[in-house]
Amino acid sequence: MSENNKSELKIKAIENGTVIDHITANKTLHILKILNLPDKEIRNVTVAMNVSSKEMGRKDILKIENRELDHEELNQVALIAPKATINIIRDYKLVKKDKIVLPEKITSIIKCTNPKCITNYENEPITPIFKVVNDCPTVVRCHYCEKLIKTEDIDKQFE
Ligand code: ZN
Repeated sequence: MSENNKSELKIKAIENGTVIDHITANKTLHILKILNLPDKEIRNVTVAMNVSSKEMGRKDILKIENRELDHEELNQVALIAPKATINIIRDYKLVKKDKIVLPEKITSIIKCTNPKCITNYENEPITPIFKVVNDCPTVVRCHYCEKLIKTEDIDKQFE
């Protein structure tokens, strides 16, 4: 057995829930921040960070027991980990496997980095809207001021 397989086996199978695989290495904590799971669900989270991966070199794996992430939540994951794959597990069986896809448009979740942008006005802030211009690495453009926001800028907002 190769080294790669060994490290992937370290994580035990779950009965029910969501497994997010192929997360960009060391980005799991950003994802947990973005998902903002309640305490009782955080207790069901298992994380494997910086494990070896054939396709990616290094990757993270995140398991959330007894919780199936919905569409909107998966979109948020895509923002941080564009190569992630989602596995929905029921009764130890894989019932759904999907690549996550970043939507064309993102609202809220992240902030525009231009301090003069209308979405950052203190008195009447407007909900930020971004158009996705590149999905891997993630680059989005603010709908209002056209500022480009790159993956590093997005990461910074979840550190
Ligand atoms: Zn803006």
